[in-house]
Amino acid sequence: MALKRLALVGVGLVGSAVLLRMACSAKLAIKLIDGDIITKKDAYANGIFVEADAEHVTFKANAAHRFLLAHNLSLDTESVPFYIGENNIDRVLEGVDLVIDATDNAQTRNLLNRWCIENSKPLLISSVSGNRAFFYVSDGENACFNCISRNVTLTDPNCTIASVKTATVLADAIAKEVLKLPFGDRPHKFVSINARSNEVAAYTLLKDPSCSVCGDIRKNEKEKSLFVQVCSGGIKVSLQRKLSIKTLLPLFKSYDPSVSDDYLLLRNGGRSILVSKFGDFLFTGYSTGSVRKILAMVSNLSSP
Ligand SMILES: [Zn+2]
Repeated sequence: MALKRLALVGVGLVGSAVLLRMACSAKLAIKLIDGDIITKKDAYANGIFVEADAEHVTFKANAAHRFLLAHNLSLDTESVPFYIGENNIDRVLEGVDLVIDATDNAQTRNLLNRWCIENSKPLLISSVSGNRAFFYVSDGENACFNCISRNVTLTDPNCTIASVKTATVLADAIAKEVLKLPFGDRPHKFVSINARSNEVAAYTLLKDPSCSVCGDIRKNEKEKSLFVQVCSGGIKVSLQRKLSIKTLLPLFKSYDPSVSDDYLLLRNGGRSILVSKFGDFLFTGYSTGSVRKILAMVSNLSSP
């Protein structure tokens, strides 16, 4: 998969250091997402913001965007100067190939983790506290953030304070990893860094099958939620998304179809399937097992 569009969530000390490293090395499109404004402390520490930014209300995302434009760096950036949440995450992250979490905020991180698992997008999580830092790329094949964090505390419940040196070492390591991703390299490692001793350790983390975000239980729950009603009269299922009636037809060649603009009725002996363009199904004469098989076939179809 070619990675072209990144979302950088958090343009603080770590986020802006990562941004600077990537700006010099790659032609990428990056959404800069951060609702924070610049304080005096930020202006001194991060290399992108200037002292004048702290004298009036300046959003970090806007200032980083302005910096990259002013220096004519090769990055194509878009500023998103507000916080990401349940109600705007789909809109904000639409079309993104990789999400980089540089927030050190457990709530945002859990939200990003869930979204990335549900949308099959890789998530790079980073965290820094004092001399210690870590980063981790979760891509759906290995442990997700919830698999790890439900067993250990990785982030300080209070806001963590990063040292500039640790943030720099972390940003170097992250940029190196991210720039490898477009070439098909998929790091499956949890990388822990001690910036004082320069020790770096990498671990492979396996999925936790009982994880409520990426585990098997979750998949079953998701499938269950498609079934609206199962009774003797029939099985009602809702895909909760629109379907193109025309693309369904070739899948049901042995059926006798009646087609209209809004629905498709498929008859096969004494059994029938009524499909609406809104993705609702009524199966008559089918077992839940055969409905599942049909849904597996249909769910690969794209929306109109
Ligand atoms: Zn998980």
